[in-house]
Amino acid sequence: MQSYNSFEVAQAQVTAAAKLLNLDRATLDLLLWPQREFAFTLPVRMDGGETRVLHAFRVQHNFARGPAKGGIRFHPDETLDTIRALAGWMTWKTAVANLPLGGSKGGVVCDPRKMSERELERTARAYVRALWPHIGADRDVPAPDVYTNPQTMAWMMDEYETITNRHQPGVMSNKPLALGGSEGRRSATARGGVVVVREACRACGIDPRGDYAVQGFGSNGQRAAILHQEILGGGRLVAASDSSGAVYNREGMNPIELRNHKLRTGSVKGFGGSEPIDPAEVLELDLAVLYPAALENAINVGNAERVRARVLCELANGPTTPQADQVLFAKGIHVIPDILANAGGVAASHLEMVQNRNGDYWDEPAVLARLDDTMTRAYHAVHGASEERGIHPRLGAMLVAVARVAQACKLRGWV
Ligand code: NAD
Repeated sequence: MQSYNSFEVAQAQVTAAAKLLNLDRATLDLLLWPQREFAFTLPVRMDGGETRVLHAFRVQHNFARGPAKGGIRFHPDETLDTIRALAGWMTWKTAVANLPLGGSKGGVVCDPRKMSERELERTARAYVRALWPHIGADRDVPAPDVYTNPQTMAWMMDEYETITNRHQPGVMSNKPLALGGSEGRRSATARGGVVVVREACRACGIDPRGDYAVQGFGSNGQRAAILHQEILGGGRLVAASDSSGAVYNREGMNPIELRNHKLRTGSVKGFGGSEPIDPAEVLELDLAVLYPAALENAINVGNAERVRARVLCELANGPTTPQADQVLFAKGIHVIPDILANAGGVAASHLEMVQNRNGDYWDEPAVLARLDDTMTRAYHAVHGASEERGIHPRLGAMLVAVARVAQACKLRGWV
């Protein structure tokens, strides 16, 4: 399979949207590149007494619409280009959801699976000591990402508050509830995805109670499987896969029981009443809705022709390759692109920031109602733009996002 440099893919998407919008060269150049990049080293004391020097990044892609917002990954394969691409996608994701935020991303090159809890804490604190003048509630707000979690945010927030000598919970999002996190945040990504599926079914006349499947039955996929029935008022979960295998039952599986089975056994395999199938087949079933919720490039030129879902909701980041995208569009599959489909997480992070700023915390129904409203509006903005121009919804989403960010840059007099 062809491999992609994700930063080049991200830049090509911006260029395509800019062309349709007739943006001038300076605006395009501004949007193609991050506004600020930080590459730095972190000397971290290991439990054995030795010091390891870790490489770290923070890329702040765009600030025109508000403080930058984006996760921090701890991953051995992290590169500056991956972080640049992800930072840009955060700009487009916050813009497509019409949040008053920009986009950023960060990373530390390390292998958390081989590090102790204390080593991870020292790494998190070292990251903030190196970067603190450049982050903050009104500047750039990190969140958890691959191999980081609410505990990482708690350490980072504590380090930041210690240095600045102020209570500033809004410096990080997705914190534990006890430290200023928001109700509803944990399931917000999946919930946002299901809300846009609900709107897509309405807009395209698809029966939401049809069959659906989840590729990647992890934390996001499990929540989507459960919320699908709750929010759409039905639907049969006929297949689910994870890295160890896949299960199928044409009569439908109870998503809560399947999640409990996976929590007990570590895998979807062997779930009562189901039959094992090849994980690749999950992507090729005749479905109303397919949720790819695992890794990048799951749908590629090798299998795109065989995808038969009517709606494809990209809960994962980048599950469809650019070539496969064209195939799906030609087949009339309604793709809900990742920057829209999984924007519920950052939409809830924004609500967390608002609550932190006001020192006033809402109950879960209040958060979920706001989230539903944001995602519903975002879906219709993208659907409207794609229908009007007869373009792929991914380009439609980029069109909406790039237009909003370009307008903010122009109003500021930057270009
Ligand atoms: P996770 O690790 O909990 O789940 C991923 C699941 O995918 C695991 O169950 C794993 O076994 C499975 N998987 C891996 N390879 C597979 C394969 N080849 N076939 C089938 N299944 C496979 O991760 P998550 O937090 O649920 O995130 C999933 C995706 O959603 C990622 O792309 C992530 O970037 C994206 N995402 C997550 C959030 C969030 O808030 N959790 C927000 C935005 C985007």
